[in-house]
Amino acid sequence: MQIYQFLTLATCVVLASCGGSGPSPSGGSYGRDPWGHRPGPKGFTTVILDAGHGGHDSGAVSRTTGQKEKDLTLDMVRRIKGELGSSFKTVLMRNHDEFIDLDDRVARANRYNDAILVSVHFNSSASGIRGPETYYWRVDSHGLAVRCQQAMAQVSPAEQSNRGMVRRRLRLTRNPEIPCLLLECGYLSHPAEAQLAQSSAYRQKMAAAIASAIRTQAAVGDAGTGPLPAPLYAPPSRPTDAPE
Ligand SMILES: [Zn+2]
Repeated sequence: MQIYQFLTLATCVVLASCGGSGPSPSGGSYGRDPWGHRPGPKGFTTVILDAGHGGHDSGAVSRTTGQKEKDLTLDMVRRIKGELGSSFKTVLMRNHDEFIDLDDRVARANRYNDAILVSVHFNSSASGIRGPETYYWRVDSHGLAVRCQQAMAQVSPAEQSNRGMVRRRLRLTRNPEIPCLLLECGYLSHPAEAQLAQSSAYRQKMAAAIASAIRTQAAVGDAGTGPLPAPLYAPPSRPTDAPE
């Protein structure tokens, strides 16, 4: 979001333009849970892929390539869907250049049980930083966040390629009642990373890595992703919240 590019924070997230206990997590059925204070899912059957921004909301725009975040995110979710193949029921939150309000995205995601939500973005900053980041909030999203961040960092060639995980209460990390993540695949504000993002081969590698992380989570749950974070109690994120 260009008008905020003087901020050193992850602007597409900060602008918020980005974005009862369930059954056992041991597999088979993983219901909705408003808090998510439980282990991560295993054996889930549905993957909801959310292409960030859309329509009048372009998201970040690269000054290097002119590419818009909304177009890249749509391309990415289509690629991730293709990489997942028929292993899951895959739902695209949007499959066109259309604007969907964040609360509507949450409501749509909450229609599904036994599902995860992965929102895909690219980032922007004036500080020259680069590399992928993963935002999460819920305890049940931690393991998948670890897997996705590791997967993206392995694809990104930068020395500082691993911006890491950020636990942040956003509408797409706090409000869905299913495990949910917001992935920032790289900084369009960084010239070299913008050129990588322009490469369809690079986007395909990134998509394949994310799909592999999702498949591994479905196969083994949180195994090998380290201790779960502490439960945090906080109200749902609202459009009127101060920047987080
Ligand atoms: Zn974004």
